Amino acid sequence: MAKDSRIEWTHHTFNPWWGCVRVSDACDHCYAETWAKRLGEDVWGAKSERRFFSDAHWKEPLKWDREAKERKTRRRVFCASMADVFENRKDLIPHRLRLLELIAATPHLDWLLLTKRIHLVRKQLPPSYEFPSNVWLGATVENQDSAKKRIKYLLEFSSPAVRFLSCEPLLGPLNLRQWLQIEDGKPRVDWVIAGGESGPGARPMEPQWPKDLQEQCDEAGVAFHFKQWGHWAPLEQATGVITGKTPIHIVRRDGSEIKLAAVGKGKAGRSLGGRHWDQFPNTGNTV
Ligand code: SF4
Repeated sequence: MAKDSRIEWTHHTFNPWWGCVRVSDACDHCYAETWAKRLGEDVWGAKSERRFFSDAHWKEPLKWDREAKERKTRRRVFCASMADVFENRKDLIPHRLRLLELIAATPHLDWLLLTKRIHLVRKQLPPSYEFPSNVWLGATVENQDSAKKRIKYLLEFSSPAVRFLSCEPLLGPLNLRQWLQIEDGKPRVDWVIAGGESGPGARPMEPQWPKDLQEQCDEAGVAFHFKQWGHWAPLEQATGVITGKTPIHIVRRDGSEIKLAAVGKGKAGRSLGGRHWDQFPNTGNTV
C-alpha cells in the first residue's frame, strides 16, 4: 500500500482544514505557516479565514480504510499537518465534528491527533464523547515548562489507544520521568517522539537533549522515535558534508565545547548514538 506522507512515523496525513494561529514557542518557525504562505494562502492568524475542503478530500480516508481492511493491516494517519485540530474557533466546530465521525467510520486507521492546545481538547469535544481505540492522542512539549503545563491534560484521557508526546522542535533539556512511570501496569505516556528544528532560523538542539529522552524512555520501557536532527547536526556526524563556509554553533558546557554545524535537515540525518530509533507503542489493536 502506498505511503503518501513524508513524515517517517505515519503512512498518511489528513487535514480537516488549513490554517492556525501561533500559541507556543514551538510555533515560532511553523513550517505549515511558511508553506501556506508560499502557496499564496492567507490562512494564518486569528483574523484570517481558514481553508476548507470538498467532499472528495473527506472521502480519501475512507479509501485508505478500505485498502487497509483488504490487506488486513492498519495504517497511521497524522492529523493535522497544516492546522491544529483543537484550535478554538466557532467556524471549526462542524469540521471537527465531521472529523470525529470520519474517525469512527475508519476503524482500520489509527488517527494521530497531535495538538499544542491539549488544555482545550475536553472543552471542544461533544458532551460525554470518549475517543475510540483508533485514536492516538498527542501533545507537543518542546521544553520543561510546556511539559509541566500540558502533560497533565493529556493524562486526563484514558480511552485513546496511545498517549504520546512530540518533543519537536526540542528547545531545551527535558526530564519526563514522572510522566513515563508505570501506572496500573501501563506507562502513563506510551510513546515519545523527538526531533530538532529545520528551516530558516532553526534553533540548534543540543545532542544531549534527545539522548537524555532516549535514555529516560529506555529506563521506563516507553517507545522512542527520533525523527531528525533538523537544520543543525553534531559536528562529528557532519564532517563529510561541511565546508569552510558552514555556520558552526558552539555550546560551552561544564568546561567543554559542543559544536553543531548548519548542514540542513537532509544531510543532518536522524542517527542518534549510532543508530535510528523507530520504536512504536504496542496498542494491542489488531486488524
Ligand atoms: S499550533 Fe502547529 S500549526 Fe498552529 S501555528 Fe503552532 S506549529 Fe503551526
